[in-house]
Amino acid sequence: MRSVTTDGSGARDDREAHDDRDGAPYSPEASGDATTDGEFGRPGPNVPTAVEFDGVTKRYGETAAVDSVDLAVREGEFFTVVGPSGCGKTTMLRLVAGFEAPTDGRVRFGGSDVSGVPPEARDVGVVFQNYALFPHLTVGENVGYGLRFSAPPGGVSREERIDALLELVDLPGTSGRDPDSLSGGQRQRVAIARALAPGPDVLLLDEPMSALDARLRERLRLQVRSIQRSLGITTVYVTHDQEEALSVSDRVAVMRDGSVVQVAPPRTVYRRPASRFVAEFVGDNNVFEGVVAARGTVSAAESEGGETVNDDGDEQRVVPVAVHDTTLAIGFGGGSPERADDEGAATATDAHGTGWSSTPRAGDRVVFCVRPQHLQVDRAQNRLRADVEGAEFLGETTRVHLTWSGQQLVLSAEEPLAGAVTVGFDPRDAHVVEHTATDGGADTS
Ligand code: ADP
Ligand code: MG
Repeated sequence: MRSVTTDGSGARDDREAHDDRDGAPYSPEASGDATTDGEFGRPGPNVPTAVEFDGVTKRYGETAAVDSVDLAVREGEFFTVVGPSGCGKTTMLRLVAGFEAPTDGRVRFGGSDVSGVPPEARDVGVVFQNYALFPHLTVGENVGYGLRFSAPPGGVSREERIDALLELVDLPGTSGRDPDSLSGGQRQRVAIARALAPGPDVLLLDEPMSALDARLRERLRLQVRSIQRSLGITTVYVTHDQEEALSVSDRVAVMRDGSVVQVAPPRTVYRRPASRFVAEFVGDNNVFEGVVAARGTVSAAESEGGETVNDDGDEQRVVPVAVHDTTLAIGFGGGSPERADDEGAATATDAHGTGWSSTPRAGDRVVFCVRPQHLQVDRAQNRLRADVEGAEFLGETTRVHLTWSGQQLVLSAEEPLAGAVTVGFDPRDAHVVEHTATDGGADTS
């Protein structure tokens, strides 16, 4: 079977087609082998596909809630779908669960088309936004309800299964309790235990934390991640909360208006967003629009034939970009800040480094972004004279709002700033999200 991934340019990653699909299924114990990423032990590109969307569209009347989506969730992967409200996340999950059928395209489990397979026969466990526990049943009976279609796996008794699951979700000894006596986070863990009771192949969670307060959410997401890891169960998790998505996932799919616009590990999505939308949706960002200037307009001390020397002494290539009345140096090519790994979006832009779609030429239109932590008062390069509009003290950091040439900027500082300041950034910390060649050619978006 051919597997597809979706990247920012809509191109299919052909390397996936050459993968060895006969490898052993992912197991957490096997981390470090060829099927996982060395650094985090996450399921790598050689891991077989558990759930695949092949050109899936779901229409409600005129609305395409899900629009021509291709993606492949790997076995054992914690895969998160993130995007603003109404972008189609719940519909994606309902298509996996079998509560909805695609208008177009195919959903496959382990390579087999599951059209016509009813939800209860799909081996998926689902956890919804609101706990939906039965209030008139005990905690144990709620978990046992998950076994209504099947006997407990592994030949154990119902009671043993229920106890083991309550142990797994860190609620041992609560079987006889009334759900009302539990906290919101505990009730969601019971809902997870219920979804896991029949031993599903895939766990689906739809914004399971949205009803909880911030501190509980942080705790629960760690618990969910640890449950997922200990079982090695393929998990599709839906959230509108980008921080949650970054913190728990092996890979993240960012959705917008029914389309998947980037699929990549959290660090790639954060550092190398595939589009302006992703750059602004995931974390704070400063977005600059400019035009590639002729070579040599970056100050002579910093640039010679496209070479420059950074604050830390490294040589690198830069491209001069005129933004408002200032020419800024933006990194191009050279060593990419991180391996593009096996993922879609980064690969499309990697040949040119830091997001350029092709070799930049004078007059090309370009949009690039710089994270708030990369705008620094002590930077010698790309100095911008800006006015402080205000500052928010956030504990670990202070978020300072600036205006520069009529544009809003945000930076994170250790100390509050006031008045007029000069801030700069390293050219390598600028990431291009749109690059339109003057001849009307390639575009990165
Ligand atoms: P999300 O979970 O990201 O908030 P949804 O998948 O619930 O988004 O919805 C995506 C789009 O599809 C929205 O425009 C929503 O109004 C529409 N939609 C979802 N379910 C239905 C339905 N059963 N009937 C009609 N429109 C729907
Ligand atoms: Mg939803």
